[in-house]
Amino acid sequence: MSLSVAQALATAQALGLGRLDAQLLLGHLMQCGRAWLVAHDDHGLPAVLASRYLADCQRRASGEPLAYVTGEHEFHGLVLQVSPAVLVPRPDTETLVDWALECCAAMPSGRPLDLLDLGTGSGAIALSLASALRGRSPPARVTATDLSPEALAQAQANALRLGLSVQFALGAWWQALSSQIRFDLIVANPPYIRESDTHLPALRHEPIMALTSGPDGLDALRDIVAGAPRHLNAGGRLLLEHGWDQANAVARLLAAAGFVDVTTRLDIDGRTRCTGGHWGGD
Ligand code: GLN
Repeated sequence: MSLSVAQALATAQALGLGRLDAQLLLGHLMQCGRAWLVAHDDHGLPAVLASRYLADCQRRASGEPLAYVTGEHEFHGLVLQVSPAVLVPRPDTETLVDWALECCAAMPSGRPLDLLDLGTGSGAIALSLASALRGRSPPARVTATDLSPEALAQAQANALRLGLSVQFALGAWWQALSSQIRFDLIVANPPYIRESDTHLPALRHEPIMALTSGPDGLDALRDIVAGAPRHLNAGGRLLLEHGWDQANAVARLLAAAGFVDVTTRLDIDGRTRCTGGHWGGD
């Protein structure tokens, strides 16, 4: 069956897709922008593209994130490839990246910075840092870990495609790293959703290990905070993403572990989303 652009978009909307998703999926398939689709709505789609488009629309209509259907997602100005092995990067996490970059700018120049992203998933945070700090001299050295070999392979492929240099290590939080290694800045967007959270069904297409962490959602954050002092240089920073209602709990964990200057940042929706502290030294 061949369809015009207008017919294809109407069919997508009849399947329940919003206008924007319908256009983004078709634009991705036809390698064109939304403006082109609007201006060429009588353009005919070859049958093979029309049937691929309908299959993509059905996936989206069944709740699969757009990013998994197109296989890519933009984060902090980088186009990342994403598969169902990794969480779809959220705009909320750009708060963490921007904060990390501010911390890097405030650190003494003249020696290389060592940065760590724990639980990197698609590589979104590590690659954004590596990209933004590309011109730094001496260069920043970025390390990224993940427990999932599939996620690490995805992050590695993104690094290769973007021409960014990141060191990857497989393993659970600190276990991925040698006990000797220390960093100037450690960031993480770990799983933090409560296992009983009623929003989880809406996230069913994403890897559960990247989403939930124990009954209060804080298990991974506790592990990360507990191990961080052994892996931070004096004057280093630990910055963590968390749920909108977990800022006080994370601030308490940081203070109890000996971090100072503990502060919280808001995400683009104005919710408390990241908390971090300063490590004075052992
Ligand atoms: N921010 C994501 C969400 O609420 C969850 C990501 C995470 O647990 N780190 O959908």
